[in-house]
Amino acid sequence: FLTQEIIRKKRDGGALSAEEIQFFVSGIPNGSVTEGQIAAFAMAVYFNDMNMDERVAFTLAMRDSGQVMEWRSLNLPGPVVDKHSTGGVGDVVSLMLGPMIAACGGFVPMISGRGLGHTGGTLDKFDSIPGYCTVPDPELFRKVVKDIGVAIIGQTAQLAPSDKRFYSIRDTTATVESVAMITGSILSKKLAAGLDALVMDVKVGSGAFMPTYEKSVELAESIVAVGNGAGTRTSALLTEMNESLGPVAGNALEVRLAMDYLTGRSRPARLHEVTMALCAEMLILGKLAANETEARAKLQAGLDSGEAAERFSRMVAALGGPADLVERPDAYLEQAPVVVPVPALQAGFVTQTDTRGLGLAVVSLGGGRRRPEDAIDFAVGLTGLAELGDTISVGQPLAMVHARTQAAAEQAVREVQAAYKIGAQKPAPNPIIYRTIR
Ligand code: URA
Repeated sequence: FLTQEIIRKKRDGGALSAEEIQFFVSGIPNGSVTEGQIAAFAMAVYFNDMNMDERVAFTLAMRDSGQVMEWRSLNLPGPVVDKHSTGGVGDVVSLMLGPMIAACGGFVPMISGRGLGHTGGTLDKFDSIPGYCTVPDPELFRKVVKDIGVAIIGQTAQLAPSDKRFYSIRDTTATVESVAMITGSILSKKLAAGLDALVMDVKVGSGAFMPTYEKSVELAESIVAVGNGAGTRTSALLTEMNESLGPVAGNALEVRLAMDYLTGRSRPARLHEVTMALCAEMLILGKLAANETEARAKLQAGLDSGEAAERFSRMVAALGGPADLVERPDAYLEQAPVVVPVPALQAGFVTQTDTRGLGLAVVSLGGGRRRPEDAIDFAVGLTGLAELGDTISVGQPLAMVHARTQAAAEQAVREVQAAYKIGAQKPAPNPIIYRTIR
């Protein structure tokens, strides 16, 4: 094949063969395809799209550009399953979901990412735990998955290297917003973990990566079709991101919330519903439960018995963190020196939240990155976030700000106030889960 002929074919609206796609994608990490060619290809796909066969070939080629894990040789007594989300605010689901699935007999080799823009990243949350190693050697990763049923770590350079280069070029050439390429990018990285089943959480709303409900549906349908086409049982839930999922946003603060959830000290309703729904779908896809009712009963039993909390504890210890983190969070998780309330400026009902604005307030506090090389302040963030429909009086807190300095706190107070709309009419409640796509 000639690289430029592949680009020309896509430019002219043709469908590429699996072999052509494989040839192009395999040349990305080793540099035999130039940056200009990748950019031109991305723009051609942006305008002319890929059909489902092309998307499957593209996803598999990107997956196979690096290491693909295999679990069969370990003879695990349960399915290898995972979840991925398009990213949100106050979305601490992964920290609970992994241990909950492990408690039900699944195996979760979760390769997580850093925060992006206004959204939090699971990897950053784990980095707030002293000693926890998010880049263990592959042997330790395998051992923790095998022995405990869950390990949550970060990406290595060996994982889908084509996507790494391709994504950075898309990012600088205005070609990120293509469902075909987003599908391949997300799935290539997830499928490199050698999964039997994957559940995708596609967010909808003011804090979501996809700009509209229709686009979220389109991405969910694409991921389900391509995941299944690539040989991994895949389904997707469309979930609400018109407000923070949990009442807490910020790294160490979310780790505390996850532990409170697992031990039963606190289970905020929307966070609980999304966690249970995603976990239930994983158990069903993984054939660990026959239906939703059975799945939820198993998950609840794992929470009630303390088994899920125990799996979390053991995973943290096995990856180098403190063995008694769950019992003594204050001894290990950093706390911000300045904690102040965000007074409401108006009375009424919370009618709308700018979820992106709330995420950006956490970034302003230092809890997220403006540039990829920025360091994160794990201690800062927001707690006690008021929910849509809450009744508020003047001066009552919309949230608590946890800040490094008084000045940072004051700035965040203004940002949180600006992110809340308060009105006279109680809004109709939004769905928590819009749709499941199988
Ligand atoms: N996240 C990814 O990993 N890839 C994309 O293309 C978009 C979001």
